[in-house]
Amino acid sequence: MKIVAIGRNYPDHAKELHNAVPEQPVIFLKPDTALLKDNHNFYYPAFSGNIHHEVEVVLRICKEGKHIGAKFAPTYYDAVGLGIDFTARDIQQQQKDKSLPWELAKAFDGSAPVSALYPKDTFGDLHNLGFRLDKNGVTVQRGNTAEMIFSFEDILVFVSQYITLRKGDLIFTGTPAGVGPVAIDDYLEGFIGTERLFHFHVK
Ligand code: MG
Repeated sequence: MKIVAIGRNYPDHAKELHNAVPEQPVIFLKPDTALLKDNHNFYYPAFSGNIHHEVEVVLRICKEGKHIGAKFAPTYYDAVGLGIDFTARDIQQQQKDKSLPWELAKAFDGSAPVSALYPKDTFGDLHNLGFRLDKNGVTVQRGNTAEMIFSFEDILVFVSQYITLRKGDLIFTGTPAGVGPVAIDDYLEGFIGTERLFHFHVK
């Protein structure tokens, strides 16, 4: 499986990092070795001094899709969860400054913690889904899928023009404002609505 992630999909987040609001989705990939499941500890990597949290709604693809049509896009994902797109912000800035790709900052081991995935009708209206991240008991990010620049369907249509989506692939749909650093011994908890979907420690 692969993880396709969308960058700059919430206007307030694009602004906080001084990026333009994009005209088409910004995408990057994470390998399956980035996946961190079952609330396992995230181990802070030695190569970075500035790992940021980016909480994101995650979709699971349920059938193979290439050139997905807008009308059929909702039938290509069957489950929803919550994850973190951990980002080595220091490395990402160096790569951006040199106009180089982002993989070293985004695709490292354990950089994609994901909660259990739930049938997509579990949480009500997917286009108006409130979610948040708490760090050490304090809310640090809060978002609603209604604020997304590109909807879940837009993302599947766009990505599948270039990359075939397969059953089991995961889509990270972008982070709202409030990204910030994590430190060893931090405790992170992710919620959709009032439902806690993940909780784990940084070690
Ligand atoms: Mg992200």
